[in-house]
Formats: sequence, C-alpha cells, structure tokens
Amino acid sequence: MPVRISVTFTWDIPEAERLYRAWSMYYSDVQMGGPAFDDPGKTFTPGQFVKPGIVFTSRGCTKNCDWCLVPKREGWIRELPITGGWDVADNNLLACSRDHIEAVFDMLRRQPEPIKLSGGLDAELLQPWHIDLLKTIRLKYAWFACDYPGALRNLERAADLMDVSLRLINKRLPSLAYPPCQCETRTTFLISFNNSITGLSSCKQAVWVVE
Ligand code: SF4
Repeated sequence: MPVRISVTFTWDIPEAERLYRAWSMYYSDVQMGGPAFDDPGKTFTPGQFVKPGIVFTSRGCTKNCDWCLVPKREGWIRELPITGGWDVADNNLLACSRDHIEAVFDMLRRQPEPIKLSGGLDAELLQPWHIDLLKTIRLKYAWFACDYPGALRNLERAADLMDVSLRLINKRLPSLAYPPCQCETRTTFLISFNNSITGLSSCKQAVWVVE
C-alpha cells in the first residue's frame, strides 16, 4: 500500500520525517510531499490530504505579491478539472476565466452544504457579474484579503458592489474564532498582513460583519 505524507508548513517537516521513518518500517512505498516541499499541486483529488468538502479548482495566481509563495511554487494560474465540494480553497478563484468561474458556481449550486469561500476572493478583481453568481448560492462566508495599504480601497469597493455596510467588531480577537453573530451571512476580512498597514495593527484578525 502506498503511503503519502503531505506537509503544508515547513516547520512540520521534522514531524513528517518522523512519520516517514515510522511508516517505512511497515511499507515499502512511502513518500513525503506537499506545499512544504514546493509541490506545485498539479492535480487535485477530493478527499486526498484535505477534509471532505474542501475543493481546489485552480492552482497558481496571476499576481506576484512579495509576501506570497504561490507564484514561486505554483506559477501562473491553472484551471483544474472541477470536482465537487462546498469549501473552495483556491488561491485566487476570481483570477480564473469567466467560463471556469461560472462552471464552479454551477457545481456549488448542487452542493448539500452552505458554501464557504475559504481561499478568499480578490477584492480588486470583483465584478458585478461575480455578485450575480454569489446571489445564486447558499453562501456561508467569504474571505477577502487586505494585505497592503492600497487594498483597503479595494475592500471598500467590494463592499459597495456587494451592497453591504461593514461594521467592525470593536475589539482585537485572540484568534480567528468567530464572534457571536445574528447575521445569516457574514464576510470576514484578514487585515494587514505582517503589520503592512501601520496604525491598523489593532484591526488584525478583526471580523467585520455584514449588515
Ligand atoms: S493575489 Fe493572493 S495568491 Fe496571488 S500572489 Fe497575491 S497573495 Fe498570493
């Protein structure tokens, strides 16, 4: 039986090596791989290395942000065959072609669970036709990044397009745990990666609720 050890973070490599040694005592075909080893993610098989429901429909990205490993590891955006799932973990789904995005939403409309857009939507790329698609699914939550000062403008524009007002929960959260919320839909923004927006450190990991 082949044994595959997928490692997401480089700091987990020592533990992966321990597992490799342990499994190798019982099986002849043991391999380590994954993002920590710069695996470009050529394919995606549902349920393999990720929880049921998580789906990747693309790899790579059209952008080249300084702080991000995706362009170096996965290269330019690649659209994968669309498999089923309700938690889309793509790096930058909105950088895909319109045909691909529409096909992804066709798939999402058939899912038994509310939809999570955990990989994040690129506020700069958000267009009115994306909003039309979002209205066709049972959306649990969507993430938007806000990693650099200029991104705040994109965030505000995205809020306008989504026709929502944003209310910042007025405290710094100890983790990404969600606060109590009566809203049926909420949108969560991770603010100021690596303190890149000075003066907003108290907003890091803050949660904005949709009203
Ligand atoms: S847009 Fe996101 S995925 Fe693409 S390079 Fe920037 S941080 Fe990475």
